[in-house]
Order: sequence, then structure tokens, then C-alpha cells
Amino acid sequence: MKKIVLIANWKMHHSQLSAQQYFTDFFSALEGISWEEAVQVGFAVPYTLLGLVRQTLQNKPARVLAQNVHHLDQGAFTGEISLAMLADLGIRATLIGHSERRQYFAENLETVNLKTKAALRAGFSPVLCIGESLSERQESKTKEVIERQLRSALNDISDHSNLIIAYEPIWAIGTGLAASPHQAQEVHQQIRALLASNYGTMHASRISLLYGGSVTPANLSSFLAQPDIDGALVGGASLQGESFAAMVKVARKSRKEQLS
Ligand code: PEP
Repeated sequence: MKKIVLIANWKMHHSQLSAQQYFTDFFSALEGISWEEAVQVGFAVPYTLLGLVRQTLQNKPARVLAQNVHHLDQGAFTGEISLAMLADLGIRATLIGHSERRQYFAENLETVNLKTKAALRAGFSPVLCIGESLSERQESKTKEVIERQLRSALNDISDHSNLIIAYEPIWAIGTGLAASPHQAQEVHQQIRALLASNYGTMHASRISLLYGGSVTPANLSSFLAQPDIDGALVGGASLQGESFAAMVKVARKSRKEQLS
């Protein structure tokens, strides 16, 4: 059975000092609890904190992720960071195509495909983010949008072994209006079926599909109870160490219940 995957997306938050306090709070809230067997935890942090967080998490069962990356190794791209630079820091995972990147930084189907391809080729674990806007959902275009985003992101990719996909409806991100577990499951089922048509059912079942959008310690278990939801990508509720630790506890409990 796959571990439940929980990824914290810190976005543009935290300093060197607050990050250190964060991990003190996070690990002390989980002291004495054996969660590592059930839950795989990751922290997608700003570039400025990658080094510190990587060092802090050395010998801990937790991964560090970047929030974005350029698809080329080097070049005249002021302000960008390459996969090779992340690897140089010991980072091997990154978010790709978060809706805030698409919305505010002009990322599109083509750049998301280039980044996903390059990341997989470099042995990274990309967390590919897809999701529809409110108007697309209201116009009943969710299925069409998801299929377009997924097919184009995975175009020309055969080795998907480290791929993780996060379904994040844009209308649910940071709004407090999470999708219902049923709405999320419906899309996750579609994603799983699309993956199965590309890579076969067995391989598709191994890819972790995360739901993201106003997940909290209070609603996490209802998402994890869905058959195609393997974890969560969490923004706001991951910004405090205790709150994210509470989600790790919820995930551990959900896994225990699934196994009993
Ligand atoms: C996100 O930014 O990926 C996210 C899911 O944010 P929030 O949990 O705050 O909705």
C-alpha cells in the first residue's frame, strides 16, 4: 500500500527564523508518534529556505521540494533556477504548474510540459498541479480542462516513475471553500483513468494523486476516505508547524482505519 502523501506549500512565507521555529513545533507535536510508516511528508519552501530546510530535515523522514523550476540546466534567464541548481543543493523534487504560477507568471501548457519532462528526465519527483477555474466548473468544462492539462503536461513522457499529480481546483485554493470529497473523487477517478490509458492500470495505481484546495485538519480525513485520493497538497493550513503536524496525525489515523 502506498503511503499517504502530505505536502506543505509555504508559497512566499517564512524566514530563516520562523522556519526553524516551525520545525521545532512540527516535530515536538509529533514526538512519540510513529507516523513515518503511514505518511510521506514534504515541504515545498521558497528558494531562500531550501538550504536551511534541507539541513534541518537531514536524517528526518521528510522531503524538501522547490515550488518551481526552469526546464533548462543553465543560460541567460535572470531570476530563474534550474534543476541542476536544485540537485546541487540536494533537492530532488519540485511543484510544477501551480495555478498561481499559471495565473500570475504566464506558465502555460507548453512550459508545464517542458518542466515536467525535464524534471522526470533528471530523476526528480515533480508534483504536477492541474485544476479548473470557477467559470470552467460552472460551464461544466471541468472534465475537458483536466484532460487537456493532463494530456499536454504528460505529452512525450514515458518514464513517469516519480510523478505525483495534485488536483487543485483554482476556486478552492486559499478560499476556505474546499471541493466536496465527492467532487474531488470524481476528478481523481478521471485522472486515474487517463493515466491508465497512457501507462496501464497497474502503473496508474502507483501514481499518488493529491487533492489541494482549502484542506484543513478538520476536513482531511473526508478526502483521504475517497478511493482515488492518496494525499493532499496544503497551503494555508500548512503554515504553522502544529497545524501541519495535526494533519499528519489525521493521515496516520486514516491509514490505520483503512488497514483495520
Ligand atoms: C495551494 O496553494 O496549493 C493550496 C492548496 O492552498 P490552500 O490549502 O491554502 O487552499
